[in-house]
Amino acid sequence: VARREGGSRCILFTPAMQEAAERRLTVVRDLPHAIARQETAIYYQPIFNIADRRLLGFEALMRWRHPTLGFVSPGEFIAIAEEGRIILDLGAWALRVAAAQAAQWGAGTTRDLYVTVNLSGRQIAEADVPGMFKAVLDAEKLPAKALVAEVTETVALGPKAGEVVEAIRALGIRVALDDFGAGYSSLGVLGGLSVDTVKLDRALVMRVVTDTRERRLLTGLVSTIHALGLKVVAEGIETDGQLQVVRQAGCEAAQGYLLGRPLTAAAATALVTAEG
Ligand code: C2E
Ligand code: MG
Ligand code: MG
Ligand code: MG
Repeated sequence: VARREGGSRCILFTPAMQEAAERRLTVVRDLPHAIARQETAIYYQPIFNIADRRLLGFEALMRWRHPTLGFVSPGEFIAIAEEGRIILDLGAWALRVAAAQAAQWGAGTTRDLYVTVNLSGRQIAEADVPGMFKAVLDAEKLPAKALVAEVTETVALGPKAGEVVEAIRALGIRVALDDFGAGYSSLGVLGGLSVDTVKLDRALVMRVVTDTRERRLLTGLVSTIHALGLKVVAEGIETDGQLQVVRQAGCEAAQGYLLGRPLTAAAATALVTAEG
């Protein structure tokens, strides 16, 4: 690809490309063993009610600590897991861990708290996702309101998605449309899919303080979503200014580094306990 100046020799890989390729090979080789080697964990990022700052619940986010690479971000390993069937194992594991944690917190019984779980397109297409949810509710004796399923727009547009989302909701489990506004098909997807909540992507919130047009766009979107009878969670809130804007726009709930980073189960438990 890169040709040395003045030379006839072609180098196919730059050192950076070489390194990226080796890293990828390591991930592909080791990811299938990550759960068994106890390298994976679920972190919990708090979601708050904006009006009274009450803790509503947590989003379950997967973490992988590789022995030599250190923390590998889900942005990197989930994409690779989705190329094969590993995502089915990882997804099933994440749901079981999150549900067990929700039960330990008394979610939906002694506390009105929920835990959201991210679903990948491949899980929807190839696994019995409603059956998995039913199984963890039974195993943990959890009420359905303790869990929320998060699906992205791209997932929501998949062939089986409508049917699977309906089956999840038939169990009483709420469904949130994740990363809304990050893709292209934003408004159309809301017409065809029945969800309970919309999570506004960080990209929609980022510039609302300084950019009037972005602020108006956000406000308009929130009222459109409300007109459909859905609740709105604003993601990626990093500043007080952003929180004020999303509150004024009418968002019910917020999630972001300003309010809380993804926490270990122990730290999240401390937060639950402190909230009473
Ligand atoms: P997501 O579902 O949209 O999750 C929110 C992401 O935004 C998380 O990244 C979270 O740490 C990050 N975030 C939260 N607040 C802020 C903020 O204020 N500023 C910024 N810059 N970022 C913020 P994370 O944990 O790296 O996860 C990335 C993505 O990986 C997730 O996006 C989700 O799509 C996927 N993912 C994570 N865990 C799972 C899982 O168990 N299953 C599946 N299928 N996907 C997962
Ligand atoms: Mg999510
Ligand atoms: Mg999101
Ligand atoms: Mg995202």
